[in-house]
Amino acid sequence: MPIIEFKDLVRSYQVGGQELRILKGIDLAIEEGEFVAIMGPSGSGKSTLMQIMGLLDRPTSGTYLLLGRDVSRLSDDEGAALRSRTIGFIFQMFNLLARTSAKDNVVLPMIYAGVPNREERAVELLREVGLGDRMGHRPNELSGGQQQRVAIARALVNRPRILFADEPTGNLASDQAEDILRQLKLLNAAGITIVMVTHEAEIAANARRIIRIKDGGIVSDETNSEFERSSGGVAVASPRTRPSPTVQEPAGFDVSLAQFREYAGSALRAMTANKLRSFLSMLGILIGVAAVIAMLAIGRGAQKSIEARLASLGSNLLMLQPQGRRMGGVRGSGASSSRLTLADVKAISEVAGVLRVEGNIQGNAQVVFGEKNAGTQVVGATPLYAKMRNAMPYWGRFFSDQENRERARVALLGQTVVKNLFGEEDPVDKIVRVDRMNFRVIGILPAKGSGGFRDQDDMVLIPLNTAMRRTLGAQYLQQIFIECATPEAIPQVMEDVQQLMRKRHRLPDYKEDDFTIRNMAEIQAALTGTTKTFTLLLGIVATISLLVGGIGIMNIMLVSVSERTREIGLRKAVGAPRRAILTQFLLESAVLSTVGGLVGIVLGASVSLLVSKLAGWAAVVTPQAVTLAFAFSASVGVLFGFWPARKASLLSPIEALRYE
Ligand code: ADP
Ligand code: MG
Repeated sequence: MPIIEFKDLVRSYQVGGQELRILKGIDLAIEEGEFVAIMGPSGSGKSTLMQIMGLLDRPTSGTYLLLGRDVSRLSDDEGAALRSRTIGFIFQMFNLLARTSAKDNVVLPMIYAGVPNREERAVELLREVGLGDRMGHRPNELSGGQQQRVAIARALVNRPRILFADEPTGNLASDQAEDILRQLKLLNAAGITIVMVTHEAEIAANARRIIRIKDGGIVSDETNSEFERSSGGVAVASPRTRPSPTVQEPAGFDVSLAQFREYAGSALRAMTANKLRSFLSMLGILIGVAAVIAMLAIGRGAQKSIEARLASLGSNLLMLQPQGRRMGGVRGSGASSSRLTLADVKAISEVAGVLRVEGNIQGNAQVVFGEKNAGTQVVGATPLYAKMRNAMPYWGRFFSDQENRERARVALLGQTVVKNLFGEEDPVDKIVRVDRMNFRVIGILPAKGSGGFRDQDDMVLIPLNTAMRRTLGAQYLQQIFIECATPEAIPQVMEDVQQLMRKRHRLPDYKEDDFTIRNMAEIQAALTGTTKTFTLLLGIVATISLLVGGIGIMNIMLVSVSERTREIGLRKAVGAPRRAILTQFLLESAVLSTVGGLVGIVLGASVSLLVSKLAGWAAVVTPQAVTLAFAFSASVGVLFGFWPARKASLLSPIEALRYE
């Protein structure tokens, strides 16, 4: 049974709508163990013939039996599997992977074939071809002859039964060419069938059988009488190169760890070979992820501080304020009627459903202790303030009703004031001056946090009567807080207080309210809603930037695929299935975007930290945000890398190899 058999084999190309017949019905049989040279002028179809023999190309019509099996219509992957186990290739252009050591080049086909002991075998074979001292050299660090010897070692690693050599000496000086031919003869002596394409008679003279083709047909087929089975009397080649006696079934192209490592390695090589380009293509993802992280952190921080502020307000609260100033500074009618008094407080506290009522005033003042002084806010309030506004002193005590009535000069300090005036010192029982009046500090207010707009801890709290009569000199209250007994009572209380205030202010029916009543629960809901919208908007912006980043990566990957078309062809020629190429390029874009994502996470976290330091705005980088950003960037890589990777995997090996 011939190892290769062609029956009426035709290969034609469609060029400009016309059919161009390159091989016009070839009938040919090659026996196992032969050394055949295919000769012919340039353009006669030698390479085309050899590529069909090597399953890199498919015949247009006719039958091809390889090892007795019809392989004319194999799929890409079936061809790759058969190729990787039975066929070795040597090309005129060597076709080694650039930036890859000789050893790794030789290891490559074994990775695709999934065979064990790859390193050892690569080392053995490189020694066999006389490159024991060049294992770590890259193709650009080797001579042409050495590169071709690496290619021979690579062709032999999977113990092929047939070796195809397309003008193997075409790019070599004559002494190097002789060396290569000697190697081929030795391999033939070891039992490997060799088919060599050449246009030089001298080279062909080394083969036992010479087939001449011209214009797509065989013109002669003769045995070479001068053929010596092996030169230099080395009849028995090393057992290491002997072909495997049976056709091994492919082990299945599972993406093993070794394959994965190879893809990751080649992805890294490709990235480092184009550092600037890789960096630029990462930039989009980097900025996108940094934006996501920073925005989530700042949004979350804002939400937290608002929540804290709201919690410090107390619950079931209504806030009553005079509506003195209108838009444009025009005062409403009857300025005197839009004022709140202590009598109002008393009247409101008698409304059904009201638990407590508390009025207060605010103003700005200088506080002095020893050498230090600070401008701050002074709030005058009744003792009810402590419970209603969640302001139980965290150290010291609150003032009493009696102290309020007696206009006592006692004060509670907010944490910022304590920090500014006392530092580490205990302020309780010390005397501070508030607007040139001595006050005894009796307690420290609990921390409320800076709520974005104003530092709530920058305040001094004094009894309401002291503030009205002594410090701020105000006659009217600025706000009245009303605490309802239950949340359900709120609407009715609002209604009743409104009616009461209208009556007290003697407003006729046609006039609008000269005060406003706000439901703090509603304000809470509105604020929470606002931060949610804010976060959502930021999220949308970040998503768009990630999308743009993804498109950038896709663009670079498409460039990378077309740049490395020859590499893809080569990988396929040595047995890479589609999935291997797909995985390689997917991994490359995933690595690009993931590295971009990681740098983006660091950048985003630093920006949030900086913002929280500079603006005094809490920023919270949550693990969820980091995970989200990481997962997002990795999937952007996979998503946007898929199309280019698929494009690469679908390339036909021979078109890819010929790509310029
Ligand atoms: P050679 O004998 O020099 O190796 P080839 O087998 O490479 O020749 O090419 C044989 C002929 O086929 C040439 O005339 C070439 O122009 C033509 N050919 C090869 N590939 C293609 C293609 N993809 N499309 C059209 N024509 C092609
Ligand atoms: Mg050729």
